[in-house]
Amino acid sequence: MSIADCLFCKIVAGEILADAVHRTEGLLAFRDINPQAPVHILIIPTEHITSLDVALDGHRDVLGEMMLAARDIARAEDLADAGYRTVMNIGADGGQTVHHVHLHLLGGRALAWPPG
Ligand code: 5GP
Ligand code: ZN
Repeated sequence: MSIADCLFCKIVAGEILADAVHRTEGLLAFRDINPQAPVHILIIPTEHITSLDVALDGHRDVLGEMMLAARDIARAEDLADAGYRTVMNIGADGGQTVHHVHLHLLGGRALAWPPG
């Protein structure tokens, strides 16, 4: 699949609408269309990176920014005291269905462990 066909690149470009909650030069965060918890937000780099598996050492900053954005959004969504989860799915066994790196931020209920 080419970058031109990437769903999340289309969201970054504004070609597909999403409920954005946070935007910086390098990141976009928006609510998941099929939420698995009362709060379910996806944090993505605006640059297309297919998965963590193909991320480069040069992506160190943007990957770190994704984690710190999760911290900030969790506070803004009032999740910090109760707790929350960040998850990144990678590849087929990881359950990745959209091939543009994204960090899930889930909260608002007690989350089971381990995942299925
Ligand atoms: P993955 O399974 O790849 O880790 O997660 C992809 C996520 O993207 C899923 O949770 C799915 O619900 C979400 N998603 C898929 N298509 C759209 C869309 O068009 N808009 C939004 N906001 N989320 C989407
Ligand atoms: Zn993309």
